[in-house]
Amino acid sequence: MNHPSQARNNEILNQFKIEDALKITPRGYRFSLRFKRALWLASSKLCAYCGDEIENHKSMNVDHFIPKSKGGPEALNNYVCSCGYCNFSKQAVDMDEFRIRMSISKSPLKGIINSTQFKQLTEIGVELPFKIQKFHFEKVIEKGVVS
Ligand SMILES: [Zn+2]
Repeated sequence: MNHPSQARNNEILNQFKIEDALKITPRGYRFSLRFKRALWLASSKLCAYCGDEIENHKSMNVDHFIPKSKGGPEALNNYVCSCGYCNFSKQAVDMDEFRIRMSISKSPLKGIINSTQFKQLTEIGVELPFKIQKFHFEKVIEKGVVS
């Protein structure tokens, strides 16, 4: 699978070291606002998964492309600009499942069917009024233009 870091302007991010991005505090860690702003700008202010515009860097979620629960590192190229919906819905599932959930959430059947029902309906040949979508970062890589 392509990697979201291929679909952004990494020049903006190259100035950062991990310790500039991740601030360790007594209560855990947080991302610095300077890094969040840079990641947001480098990603054209769009969620790397669904492509929705993210209003500002403070409301952006920093997603771990390989989740921490699966051994994903604290590393700049593992951090992805994400909306709250995608960051939340991706956390416990694999990419195929997440792709189905995201596609449903962008479809007229949002809130009407879930991914299990989607798979069951598709298996018995029911035509649904939407298709499984590519992630925004995949579309960007396909087009070959990183703005
Ligand atoms: Zn999103």
